[in-house]
Amino acid sequence: MNFDVVTIFPHMFERVFEKGVVGKALECEFVSLKIHNLRDFTTDKHKTVDDIPYGGGGGLIFKMEPLVRALRAIQDPKKKSRSILLSPRGKKLDAALVQNLSQFEQLIIFCGRYEGVDERFSAYVDDEISIGDYVLSGGELAAMVMVDAVSRFIPGVVGKIGAPFEDSFTRGDLEYPYYTRPECFEGNGVPEVLLSGHHEEIKKWREKEALKCTLQRRADLLKKPNT
Ligand code: SAM
Repeated sequence: MNFDVVTIFPHMFERVFEKGVVGKALECEFVSLKIHNLRDFTTDKHKTVDDIPYGGGGGLIFKMEPLVRALRAIQDPKKKSRSILLSPRGKKLDAALVQNLSQFEQLIIFCGRYEGVDERFSAYVDDEISIGDYVLSGGELAAMVMVDAVSRFIPGVVGKIGAPFEDSFTRGDLEYPYYTRPECFEGNGVPEVLLSGHHEEIKKWREKEALKCTLQRRADLLKKPNT
């Protein structure tokens, strides 16, 4: 998987993926991440990426020309590629969409800023995606969320094969609870079954707890078909 992120703040990505699962995946080249400065796709000496909106109103809007130039320069015709504009108005990112995106070979992710992006750019990208019903100041944090979540589904990225498919949401429910040492902390113990060594009993307990937790916290998930 090749991630190509287009932003006016490339430095924001410098430390985020240095460590952890994605950091290792980058190091081992299971995934690649290129950060492109939108200003490098401008042609004027001020490297202008924005302008005032027609019709007035506050704020600035990303202009079409640098965006389209970036898209055309970055898109690799030899790869199964998907271009994405991050937008609060896009379809909401969930486990099914994350898995779907992980099937592509190249994801080109555009981060908006200010009041957003010229509406005509929607016709140039394959998807508009939101990470939730709230407004961020820019698409960079959303891009980081997307790179992290999608990377987990690339073979080799998460150490234990199949682990991401066991996580919350992917199976259609929430995961069961975990405990670690000490066996008793401030009077709170660990469920007996987890200390029993009976793998079959532990498996059954975990299934029951996953269902209980999902019913208590996110009953809405149980109404959805499994992803
Ligand atoms: N004026 C826009 C609106 O009300 O819908 C908000 C623009 S926001 C301040 C600037 C940029 O941040 C957007 O163009 C988008 O790229 C990004 N952004 C903000 N919230 C987002 C979200 N929930 N999901 C994905 N991207 C988001």
